[in-house]
Amino acid sequence: MQKRLLFAICPGLLVLSLGAQNSCSISKINSSAQVQAVPMSHVALENKYDVKFNHLNINVERINKDISGSVRTIAKVVAPTLDVYALELYSTMIIDSARINGSLLMPVRAGDAVTYTLPVTLNQNDMIDATIYYHGTPPSGSDAGMSNGTSGSWGNQVTWTLSEPYAAFEWWPCKQQLQDKADSSYVYITTDSTNKVGSNGVLKNVVTVGNKKRYEWENNRFIDYYLISVAVAKYVDYSIYAHPAGMTDSILIQNYVYDNPATLPAFQTIIDQTAELIEYFSDIYGMYPFYDQKYGHCMAPFSGGMEHQTMTSLGFFDFGLIAHELGHQWWGDNVTCRTWNDIFVNEGFASYSEQLALEQFDAANAPANMLQVHNNVMSQPGGSVYNPDTTSINRIFSSRLSYDKGCAIIHTLRFVINDDNLFFTVLKNYQTQFGNGTASINDFKTVAETTTGLDLTQFFNQWIFGEGYPTFTVRWNQVGNTFYLKNTETVSMSGVTPLFITPLEYKLTRSIGDTVVKFDQTQAIENYTFSVGGTVTNVTTDPNNWVLNKGTVTQDASLVGLSENELFAASVHLFPNPAKEKVMISMPVQKTIHYALFDVTTKMIKSGSISSVENVISIQELSQGMYFITLSSTDNEQIKTLKFVKE
Ligand SMILES: [Zn+2]
Repeated sequence: MQKRLLFAICPGLLVLSLGAQNSCSISKINSSAQVQAVPMSHVALENKYDVKFNHLNINVERINKDISGSVRTIAKVVAPTLDVYALELYSTMIIDSARINGSLLMPVRAGDAVTYTLPVTLNQNDMIDATIYYHGTPPSGSDAGMSNGTSGSWGNQVTWTLSEPYAAFEWWPCKQQLQDKADSSYVYITTDSTNKVGSNGVLKNVVTVGNKKRYEWENNRFIDYYLISVAVAKYVDYSIYAHPAGMTDSILIQNYVYDNPATLPAFQTIIDQTAELIEYFSDIYGMYPFYDQKYGHCMAPFSGGMEHQTMTSLGFFDFGLIAHELGHQWWGDNVTCRTWNDIFVNEGFASYSEQLALEQFDAANAPANMLQVHNNVMSQPGGSVYNPDTTSINRIFSSRLSYDKGCAIIHTLRFVINDDNLFFTVLKNYQTQFGNGTASINDFKTVAETTTGLDLTQFFNQWIFGEGYPTFTVRWNQVGNTFYLKNTETVSMSGVTPLFITPLEYKLTRSIGDTVVKFDQTQAIENYTFSVGGTVTNVTTDPNNWVLNKGTVTQDASLVGLSENELFAASVHLFPNPAKEKVMISMPVQKTIHYALFDVTTKMIKSGSISSVENVISIQELSQGMYFITLSSTDNEQIKTLKFVKE
């Protein structure tokens, strides 16, 4: 989902969204139920089968959210045996009857957990064919899976669903486990004939049933439980087409816009941009995953959007919002986060899709978007892209961390890879390898490493799993053609992530034209000396906002080379690396130095002093992994950070 927005109409056509709160995030936080409602023992029962097909066949009206009907689930037993069929349905929803493999069975209900004891024990690979007939009114409130409301702007009343992350069971009986995508799904909705119904896949039929109509939506692609949706209202159907390169057919873009004479004219120009966005994303991410079905939008009166598979629900149309939710069709729908810890897989990439869309179609406003993203991330010192807490819906959909920091770090990865062809190949490979399924953050790391040949362990540890950001205190001086630049790095969360190693650009503003130089920041204090023509009047650190950072830049006439400690540090070495039992630290002269050894979580393992030219530190007791040794002088000035790997 996606941002609370300030609107700025750009001369081109495009509308840029800027704002600290992501509206995809708002809509999910507002519209999702409490965390996983059933106990782990029930989840274990659900995981004894693999869902193949869900067929929702229910009555839904726009004027209230009373629903009735049936859900048929076909599943395959994956455990050695299965004698209890387990699913979830909100406790106040009434089950009228259930037919499972031909037998009418009575449920046992405990809260939101529903179980049926089967008359015959099933074996691995046996099929389950279960139809649950039910009715009721799904729970209300800001966290409801199904909502009914009226648009304040347009006056249209709508019944719509938003199940992410844990609210599907409020309106249909289901198995809510991310890793089990159904292979296909049908959503048949019977409703008043004045309504239209939007859902996933292809609208196969609209059948007259008495004085009502049944909308029959059929999806033959893998789909996660939270992406199955309905929206019911008086809509007009505004259909357009995209024509991605390399495809002879076109892709249908079906928009269900409020049936209000003023609504479509207000949004038509922005809706039309969806076509070029599909074409562009198909170029950089790989073909739109659901090209043989459609893409679409259904309006519903909530703030932001929700990336229901092939049919996004949204409150309004805006360029950034359309780009975000469309990006989710690749990032979230085709490749789905394996756990809610991995929400970066969905939201980081959907947010970066907004940035890429701006770069492509509204380049003048792209830098401002990334700057705003950076500022939001750094409005607080800590927090990781990786989500450590799946019990907090606010944390899962943290606009600052899952969305903006995720977006910023993908941008940094692109900078580190330093080759857009290769960067987009990483994204395409990730889609190819994990499409139709789920993937973790570490799966993304593996694909990125395999594709680029880079070791990205440090990158992911500091930016994705670590916390905070670096502050660069830069001093510079020019003497003739010799340029001195010193960058002293401190960090916002030294107890978690003590050092960020990163390439970094510096823009030198000169009378003869600006130039950009690039160096690797590999330790807390870096000194660079290089030749430069002309007269430098100013230095800007990271002028293109590739790297999350704060900092200051000062011209300093006293900076004409290295200090005594810096000269000393330049000649300090650690070897061997990797090491098994001990590491040696060599120093140019005898000098008393304090050392401290940390693991990657920055837990200090040991500390002490060394003073010889050659010093042995035992690492026998350490487990395998990466470690840091910091060296500081007797007057506590940090001299150098050494890194090594224990084998
Ligand atoms: Zn989103």
